[in-house]
Amino acid sequence: MTESTPRSFDLIILGGGSGGYAAALRAAQLGLTVGLVEESKVGGTCLHNGCVPTKALLHAAEVADNAREGSKFGVNSTLESIDMTVVNQYKQGVIDRLYKGLKGLIKSRKVTMIEGHGTLVGPDAVEVRGERYTATSIVLATGSYARSLPGLEIGGRVMTSDQALELDYVPNSAIVLGGGVIGVEFASVWKSFGADVTIVEALSHLAPNEDEALSKGLERAFRKRKIDFKLGVRFQGVEQTDSGVKVSLEDGTVLEADLLLVAVGRGPRTSGLGYEEQGIRVDRGFVLTDDNLHTGVANIYAVGDIVPGLQLAHRGFQQGIFVAETIAGVQTQPIVEANIPRVTYCEPEVASVGLTEAQARDAHGDAVETVEYNLGGNGKSQILATQGFIKLVRVKDGPVVGVHMLGARVGEQIGEAQLIVSWEAHPEDVAPLIHAHPTQNEAMGEAHLALAGKPLHAHD
Ligand SMILES: Cc1cc2nc3c(=O)[nH]c(=O)nc-3n(C[C@H](O)[C@H](O)[C@H](O)COP(=O)(O)OP(=O)(O)OC[C@H]3O[C@@H](n4cnc5c(N)ncnc54)[C@H](O)[C@@H]3O)c2cc1C
Repeated sequence: MTESTPRSFDLIILGGGSGGYAAALRAAQLGLTVGLVEESKVGGTCLHNGCVPTKALLHAAEVADNAREGSKFGVNSTLESIDMTVVNQYKQGVIDRLYKGLKGLIKSRKVTMIEGHGTLVGPDAVEVRGERYTATSIVLATGSYARSLPGLEIGGRVMTSDQALELDYVPNSAIVLGGGVIGVEFASVWKSFGADVTIVEALSHLAPNEDEALSKGLERAFRKRKIDFKLGVRFQGVEQTDSGVKVSLEDGTVLEADLLLVAVGRGPRTSGLGYEEQGIRVDRGFVLTDDNLHTGVANIYAVGDIVPGLQLAHRGFQQGIFVAETIAGVQTQPIVEANIPRVTYCEPEVASVGLTEAQARDAHGDAVETVEYNLGGNGKSQILATQGFIKLVRVKDGPVVGVHMLGARVGEQIGEAQLIVSWEAHPEDVAPLIHAHPTQNEAMGEAHLALAGKPLHAHD
């Protein structure tokens, strides 16, 4: 901020994470003057403490697995050790390059960065470091923080993903509280790095928001990888000693490990920011909006993790773009939450879009058909020595409403899956489309052939 920093804009955005910076870039592209308020680093959770660093760790984990398992393919390698200093340098290098690129992009689009903690102080005003900035429209994009459980204090050997991403050693053993996306991703990394891992999940499945077939498939795969898990049991307490943690569960089990990762979800970062004082409706901390992401107050919109729904970076990006276009008066389409692709990047990967079978049955009763194509019939999956399947859910004689995948690298197929579901394609539309051989992508084609009643590489 300098003497010449403008005080008045067409649009001010509070928070420069995935949702906020996408709104800033699109609004600037559409000719609006934009002020972007950020108290830490643009790129937010996803770039600095979320998607990017975890995926770098998962890639290093894959390299470790390849080294350990090389001899299966006639490549006589062994895994000697994991050097977390180098792993962290590699991870930080990726973040730094992307951060530099993002800052350059923001500058080149002439978005004004306003550095510091911002609060909403009027229907058209925010305050940052004692200065008042006004705008015709405001977008709230303050993101989320790692939640804990009541009485479960973070510190020392009890950590959230924020601290786990900074670890400079591989634990010998870890307990992961929460079998959702973040929990299973860390469990997968640490197991590949050589740790003994136990996941504790209060619900009856790992990846509990996914189609049950995916959850069960992931549980089978994790069992094979010797990742331990306890399902349907609640956490009771944790005791920290000099050398580790003792975690007690409500069924009387006591687990011991080097550390406890608390991965029980993310809470919206909205308290103390003046939202409610300005009349914005908040439910359990989440900002309530209409389908157009309008808060109902003046020209104030909200995007990203503070809006109830899937807490994913690409949802935030798309919401940011949508809101910028709405504010600029460009005709645009509200986002369909069910069509947002979801990928869990553990080994094996879990990827899905659209309705689970249970959700489709709730919506359409018995008029639902499913097919599961096993990756056992897919050449490239055999080459990669991965197991899994693609499950399709369709409305009888109607479109494909859900695609659910399990297996190494299946996240890369989510692009086609989301086009199929978003464009409401029928299996008969997809069946004649050509999928290159030998790719895992052929399994997508085969699953649609099967659902269209003409399976090729499938046993009757
Ligand atoms: C470990 C982990 C792994 C993840 N992996 C994935 C993944 O693989 N794929 C995926 O899609 N999603 C992933 N996510 C989720 C993803 O990071 C979030 O959905 C996304 O970052 C949300 O974007 P946002 O803009 O709403 O908020 P954030 O990214 O949290 O950004 C909010 C920004 O606002 C700033 N801010 C907050 N309050 C103020 C204030 N008062 N004044 C000024 N600035 C403020 C913050 O500093 C921050 O930069 C992951 C998350 C975690 C924690």
